[in-house]
Amino acid sequence: MPNTPSRREFLHLIAVGSAAVVGARFLRPGAFGQTPAQGAPRKLGVALLGLGSYSTGELAPALQLTRRCRLAGVVTGSPGKAEKWARRYNLPKKNLYDYGNLEQIADNPEIDIVYVVTPPALHPEFAIRAAKAGKHVISEKPMARSVADCDAMIAACRDARVKLSVGYRLHFDPYHQELMRLAGPAGMGPFTKMSGDFGFKMWGKQWRAEKRLAGGGPMMDLGIYVVHAACLAAGGVAPVAVTAQEAPKKRPDFFKDVEETMHWTMEFPGGAVCRADSSYVHNANRFRADGPHGWIEFRDNAFAYRDIECRTSRGPLEFDPPVNQQALQMDDFADCIVSGRASPVPGELGCRDIRILSAIYEAAATGQRVVV
Ligand code: NAD
Repeated sequence: MPNTPSRREFLHLIAVGSAAVVGARFLRPGAFGQTPAQGAPRKLGVALLGLGSYSTGELAPALQLTRRCRLAGVVTGSPGKAEKWARRYNLPKKNLYDYGNLEQIADNPEIDIVYVVTPPALHPEFAIRAAKAGKHVISEKPMARSVADCDAMIAACRDARVKLSVGYRLHFDPYHQELMRLAGPAGMGPFTKMSGDFGFKMWGKQWRAEKRLAGGGPMMDLGIYVVHAACLAAGGVAPVAVTAQEAPKKRPDFFKDVEETMHWTMEFPGGAVCRADSSYVHNANRFRADGPHGWIEFRDNAFAYRDIECRTSRGPLEFDPPVNQQALQMDDFADCIVSGRASPVPGELGCRDIRILSAIYEAAATGQRVVV
């Protein structure tokens, strides 16, 4: 009886009153992605490019849990970091690259995927170079600073016959999968009224406040999550038009060439509307979608790695034990490569979001309603 829920799962199923939990059982760490299967095929090798906080704190630990891929190498601008990572993760010297010799990765059969985890301005260059070296590519979000750059990344991967996906980890999170399910015909949706706010108080100087590297301010870094969730809540469609206002700056000396807070509205086909905010001067992490047949509310940690607080009009929602979103995301990409299946988070989806963000910036700059 492999699909019979345990007592705990059964009780939870009743509490939630939703079929979603049954699906979520297949996403649990123990069920997928975390325990190596007996006689499993070779795990694909991932090289993390850019060893900053996300690679260090989330992706490398997640790669210790993956079932279909593993941390096989690194690409870094710092020889000291390469040595440290080699010691910590037992990486052979031949799998350590710097930004200058990335092309040599073409000759390394142990590395199948290059995961680009640098500031957004550098995603296109590294993604294109990795593709030309014959490696599949994951680009972190936001995919690039412009639609033209996204198009160039997509073209390079297509020409090199490698796969390209974006680090949209939430597609593999059970709460966000439930949002997608509820937005579909078998759920409550599509939803018609959405709202969201994602922000944190930024203090120390970093690339996120530099337009040259980040492409923009909190809209690029955080607002993109609200945009993406709203598209899911609207039934998987992009908005037809946007309006936006940049809030007056409280710290203009710090946020010199990027917005500090953005308010924006998205109008979806069929009339659904999302009103949203993103900011580097207030803390927020919430999302809500309402429709004629019910609602779903991410009260806190809506876009976080863990501890998402969520309920629906049908009752509280709780998936237990927690999943590792990044492990599931990378395992799914490895499976796409091996099976030939298309990624659910391809470059085209990343590009769509950059198109929406560009329209929001244009709307803020012109004060006009901008058709996407
Ligand atoms: P970070 O500043 O901690 O790390 C950036 C890395 O890029 C560093 O190792 C840095 O040395 C390297 N780098 C290479 N060239 C650089 C340059 N010219 N200027 C600055 N750094 C340079 O940043 P991070 O938080 O790790 O973010 C990296 C990427 O990951 C960004 O695209 C970010 O949006 C994304 N990210 C995604 C998530 C997620 O949940 N999917 C979470 C955090 C960050």
